[in-house]
Amino acid sequence: MRVHLCGVRGSTPAPGADFVRYGGHTSCLALAPQGSRAPTLILDAGTGVRNVTALCGEAPFSGTLLLTHLHWDHVHGLPFFRAGDRGGASVRLLMPDQGDGESAYAILARGMSPPHFPIEPAGLRGDWTFDTITPGPVEVPGFEVEALEVPHKGGRTFGYRVSDGSTSLAYIPDHCPTSLGFGPDGLGEYHAAVVALARGVDVLLHDAQLLPSELAAEAAFGHAAADYAVALARVAEARRVLLVHHRPDRTDAELDHLAARFEGCEPQVTVAAEGAALDL
Ligand SMILES: [Zn+2]
Ligand SMILES: [Zn+2]
Repeated sequence: MRVHLCGVRGSTPAPGADFVRYGGHTSCLALAPQGSRAPTLILDAGTGVRNVTALCGEAPFSGTLLLTHLHWDHVHGLPFFRAGDRGGASVRLLMPDQGDGESAYAILARGMSPPHFPIEPAGLRGDWTFDTITPGPVEVPGFEVEALEVPHKGGRTFGYRVSDGSTSLAYIPDHCPTSLGFGPDGLGEYHAAVVALARGVDVLLHDAQLLPSELAAEAAFGHAAADYAVALARVAEARRVLLVHHRPDRTDAELDHLAARFEGCEPQVTVAAEGAALDL
């Protein structure tokens, strides 16, 4: 499969001269199965989902949109996803069940409806469906997907493991492992759900919002340190790590410095940059 990194920024978009190389769009990953140019599975709809339209050419998007959770930086791009908001589009949007019986549509419409936004989700053109999912296997055409709950902050959050039958990735952009304790190295617990998601994957895309020195002051906001992502890859024997969900004020120069710190590391560590694609 081909993995397009459409948005790798966390919390809020980060435009400006200091954020050109790693990009300022928030969370979004688009997966195209082998033999298909256009993506059919999108993970999260941060502002980076705007980049998916170009990947679809002139065609409307047809496929699944899987949300890890409902925070703004993961849904903010939804009404601006032109390939999905056009005649002929067919989008199945799935999100974590919040455990209170509220429908997917109602959960989404809480943030996307007047007076917060001009239209409701029903105002999107094309054929859209909205459903909640629970932990376990998720039916997505062309892929095997497993959802597991991970600790974050404010609402239920899932991490996903995705395989096309021959290669696999884990996508865990928002994760607060210190909420379960500081673990063996002070970076957080290597708990069963996250190890299961990352076990043996070809690439682990993980929350790297923080530096270890920032954990004490900022972990309570719900994120992990980059070093946790790398250590998790070792624990779970993932083959490669992509650090995602960069703090909005982390400049290109600071991200270069982060990349240099992990140079030569085993497994290989890459600081994710918007616009890059990986062939797994
Ligand atoms: Zn986020
Ligand atoms: Zn979040």
